Amino acid sequence: MGRPNVGKSTLFNRIIGKRQAIVLDTPGVTRDRNYGVADWNGKKFNIIDTGGMNFQKGDFNSEINSQVESALADADLIIFLTDSKSGITDLDAQIGKLLRPRKKDVILAVNKADNDMYRLNAYDFYNLGLGDPIAISANHGTGVGDLLDLVTKKL
Ligand code: GDP
Ligand code: MG
Repeated sequence: MGRPNVGKSTLFNRIIGKRQAIVLDTPGVTRDRNYGVADWNGKKFNIIDTGGMNFQKGDFNSEINSQVESALADADLIIFLTDSKSGITDLDAQIGKLLRPRKKDVILAVNKADNDMYRLNAYDFYNLGLGDPIAISANHGTGVGDLLDLVTKKL
């Protein structure tokens, strides 16, 4: 989960290894939940791609948020995805606050860490109070193996 346009669907597609989720530059394009099955080193788990959370009024925001909340209720583990290029936004901080009561179930991942500079930026996300941020690039695949190691360890 995470706000729109951080790369949730790109990561989902990389993890399930198929082009199933719709990836677009338009924020808020994934409205419904998308389900897939992942297999990492023989460990299988279900994964849900959610729409981007947004607490502003309008469009499909409240509908998306309730879909995300259903996904959260179903989930054993939450990957909270953020964006190293934008840094922590107000919306990230709001979502972070929402997730803090479930901190032990949350893995904080910082996407778009495509190079050393953006990987360094990922440390800033400690400030969300959700533990160690993991820098990844869903586009390049870097860091995704480490993320999945952690996921399968925690499941
Ligand atoms: P979502 O709204 O969170 O599902 O985000 P999408 O997966 O639809 O991606 C939004 C945009 O971010 C698209 O243009 C992606 O190509 C881009 N994107 C996703 N992952 C990465 C990444 O690792 N690095 C960079 N530079 N862009 C990415
Ligand atoms: Mg999406």
